Amino acid sequence: MLQDSFGRVATDLRVSLTDRCNLRCSYCMPPEGLEWLPKPELLTADEIVRLVTIGVERLGVTEVRYTGGEPLLRRELADIVSRTTVLTPAPQVSLTTNGIGLSRMAASLADAGLSRVNVSLDTLDRETFKRLAHRDRLDDVLRGLEAADAAGLRPVKINTVLMRGINDHEAVPLLRYCLERGYELRFIEQMPLDAQHGWTRENMITADEILARLGDAFRLTGDDPVERGSAPAESFLVDGGPARVGVIGSVTRPFCGACDRVRLTADGQIRNCLFATDESDLRAAMRSGAGDDEIAERWRSAVRIKKAGHGIDDPSFLQPSRPMSAIGG
Ligand code: SAM
Repeated sequence: MLQDSFGRVATDLRVSLTDRCNLRCSYCMPPEGLEWLPKPELLTADEIVRLVTIGVERLGVTEVRYTGGEPLLRRELADIVSRTTVLTPAPQVSLTTNGIGLSRMAASLADAGLSRVNVSLDTLDRETFKRLAHRDRLDDVLRGLEAADAAGLRPVKINTVLMRGINDHEAVPLLRYCLERGYELRFIEQMPLDAQHGWTRENMITADEILARLGDAFRLTGDDPVERGSAPAESFLVDGGPARVGVIGSVTRPFCGACDRVRLTADGQIRNCLFATDESDLRAAMRSGAGDDEIAERWRSAVRIKKAGHGIDDPSFLQPSRPMSAIGG
C-alpha cells in the first residue's frame, strides 16, 4: 500500500504523458509556451507501463488517469492505455484532456479499454476561448466532446476554471450546455500553479461565488456526502436531480484530509501532492537497473512523507517550481 504518516492511502495515480500542450491557457502557461522536456528525459511507453504495473500490482493503485500537458499529443497513448487496462486487478483507466483530437481518437481509445474522459472547457464563446487559450480551437473541443460521448466514454466530465473578468459570466450557460447533453460539469478554483506566477487570491473565483452565480438560475441541494468519498468535487443536485454539478474548492475548501492521489510526471518523478516541493526520481532508479521491489520501496517512501495539507494559506507557502502542465493536472 501507498500509505502516508497520517494514514491516508493513495490509490489514484495521475500519470503525465507529456509536458507539451497545444493550448496556452493563461492559468497554466504563458502565450509563448514553455521550454519542453527534451525527449530523452521523457519516460518511454515501456517505462510508463512498467511503473503503472508496479503501482497496480504491488502498491494498491486502483485508478489510473492519464494527463499532461496534453496526453492526446502522445502518439503511443492508445498503446499505453491498452497495456494498462489489462493489468490484474484491472484499474479504472481514464483521461484528462483538452479534447482537441478526440474526434479522431475517441473510438480507438474506447477500444483500447479507456473508461471515460474529463475534458477541459472554460467557455462556449469562440472569442473568449481565443483570448484565454491563445488558440482558435473551440470547435475542435466541442467536436471532441461529441465524439467521446458517442464512443461511450461516459460519464463525460467537464472541468471549468472561471477567471474574473474573462469567463466568470459563463457559469450558468456552461451548466445549461452540460445538462442538455448529459455531461457532468465540475468547476475548479484556480490554483497557484501557473508558470507565470500570476495567480492572485483576489482574482480567484471562489467556490462560494460559483455557487452564488449558479444559485441565480438553478436550485442546488447538497448531494449525499457518502457518495462524495474522496472525490474532490463537492457535488450538488441541480433542480432536485438526478443531474449534478461539482465544485472543487481546492483553495478555499481544501480536501487534503481525504486525498488519495499520487502523481507521476512525464520525466518519471513521483510527487505526493500537486504542491509538493520534493520529488522522488523513479526514472533514474529504473535506468540504473533497479528491480521492481526497489522501485516499489522508493515509491512507498515518497508517499510516506506526504504533508498534511497543501499549505496555500500558510505564510511560508511556496508555489512549486513546476507549473501544472509539467506536473500533470
Ligand atoms: N491538457 C489537459 C486538459 O486540458 O485537461 C490535461 C492537463 S491540464 C493541466 C488538467 C486540468 O488542470 C485542466 O482541467 C485545467 O483546467 C486544470 N488546470 C490547469 N492549471 C490550473 C490552475 N492553475 N488552477 C486550476 N486548474 C488548473
